[in-house]
Amino acid sequence: MSVTAESTTDLNRTRFYIDGQWVAPRGTETQVALEAATERPLGVAALGTETDIDAAVRAARRAFDEGPWGRATAAERATVMRRFADALAARGGDTAVLVSRENGMPIALSNAFNGDAPAGLLRMYADLAETLPLEEVRPSPSGSTVVRRQPVGVVGAITPWNYPQVLAMMKIAPALAAGCTVVLKPSPETALDGYVLGDAAAEAGLPPGVLNIVVAGREAGAALVSHPLVDKIAFTGSTAAGRVIGAECGRLIRRCTLELGGKSAAIVLDDVDLDTFVAGLDNACFQNNGQTCTVQSRILAPRSRYDEVVEAVARYAGNVTVGDPLDPDVACGPLVSKAQLDRVLGYIDLGLRSDARLVAGGGRPAGLSRGWFVQPTVFADVDNRERIAQEEIFGPVVTVTPYDGDDEAVRLANDSEYGLGGSVWTSDEERGLAVARRVRTGTIGVNYYLQDLGAPFGGMKSSGIGRELGPEALGNYLEFQSVYASADQLDR
Ligand code: NAD
Repeated sequence: MSVTAESTTDLNRTRFYIDGQWVAPRGTETQVALEAATERPLGVAALGTETDIDAAVRAARRAFDEGPWGRATAAERATVMRRFADALAARGGDTAVLVSRENGMPIALSNAFNGDAPAGLLRMYADLAETLPLEEVRPSPSGSTVVRRQPVGVVGAITPWNYPQVLAMMKIAPALAAGCTVVLKPSPETALDGYVLGDAAAEAGLPPGVLNIVVAGREAGAALVSHPLVDKIAFTGSTAAGRVIGAECGRLIRRCTLELGGKSAAIVLDDVDLDTFVAGLDNACFQNNGQTCTVQSRILAPRSRYDEVVEAVARYAGNVTVGDPLDPDVACGPLVSKAQLDRVLGYIDLGLRSDARLVAGGGRPAGLSRGWFVQPTVFADVDNRERIAQEEIFGPVVTVTPYDGDDEAVRLANDSEYGLGGSVWTSDEERGLAVARRVRTGTIGVNYYLQDLGAPFGGMKSSGIGRELGPEALGNYLEFQSVYASADQLDR
């Protein structure tokens, strides 16, 4: 499949990748995928049912129980994973364009997270698989114990639409490295790009059933979560869905990791260098048109420099170029869908009806009547207890709240049901680190915020359970087994 900025409706993908083949869906449901910036059709995608999920899980189960993957050496798996990485890298530019057209992500960000990162993750976990000791013999009171790590088994991976390729690979790569097999259920909002993973897996010669892909909605997703032949669920999405999935996994005593929503704070300290802060605003507070789980959409500003901060953020937001996400000069593309647009406009309306002061944006941009665009919007004087400061908006809307002293800044940052991202802005790195250590979030930046794929990533509180990325994520896909054996048995 070749996708260019010129092509429009050549992307019909109506088969699922199951057991190493492109197979016809059991049901008849399809969906027209629309381009976020133009509302024009991009292509038609099949939507899977419970029966498709069942076929995919059974293929993954067979591949795990009978196939070569779980029993292959780490070096053998790493070789296949590197071929998979090469096949994805060869498609990286086209994949990035496709995702930008699907969900509105600015192209530079899409190149990094959808074009380059998936292949990079496969290579990183292939290297880790080769170096991870899988067995260790320990002296025990009655002999020796062999502590083994073995693959968890069949993994159900469920992903959202905002970073579809990298979020899928954050699950697939460590799972494959550990020797697991996978059923991926991508989100219907980004129905087309998931197929690229199947094309690349087929080209790389992944054994049949090792990776299976069924694009489907939440009912089919629920069927994957509760399927009796699945061993572990790896979920990224909203906290609301995470609660339902976590409860079901609890009932089934099924392993699960949950990467959920956020409402993170950017703490601007009173010694901030405002130019540094403004330079970091895009990645920290507005990344991906605000459709990033870690965006720091609550800006906490010291009262001593409050007006300066509000003015700088408002000026920045007012100058952001909104438009076609494929244009490299555009910093803010459209939202993913009409539903998301309505949701974000609803929150803006809430802000307008509150005591907050609108200082930038506040609606749809003039001159862009097609496409789900929203102006970068800034509300100042926001009480942290307001809904616009407590609920995840998932659009380019930020609030500014004043505080007095570092203790109050930390208290306000932590006054959230979420604990995912955050940042501290200061001329004194040591002071910034000291504040960062007091914020209860899974990740936090000092004077910049950009995800590091080599470090554990995830949330505290209602932002989730468990961590992805970094060497640590391999542990999500491995089980310990302790084999008690007398010393003479081991010698034999
Ligand atoms: P969503 O929860 O509506 O859907 C996510 C995925 O889960 C989709 O594939 C959907 O079909 C599926 N799903 C929904 N309900 C399900 C259920 N009951 N059982 C099984 N599957 C179900 O989220 P979304 O709107 O697609 O994505 C945006 C959300 O994702 C935001 O809240 C954002 O913060 C979060 N997110 C979190 C991270 C993170 O790493 N913490 C990263 C990206 C996005």
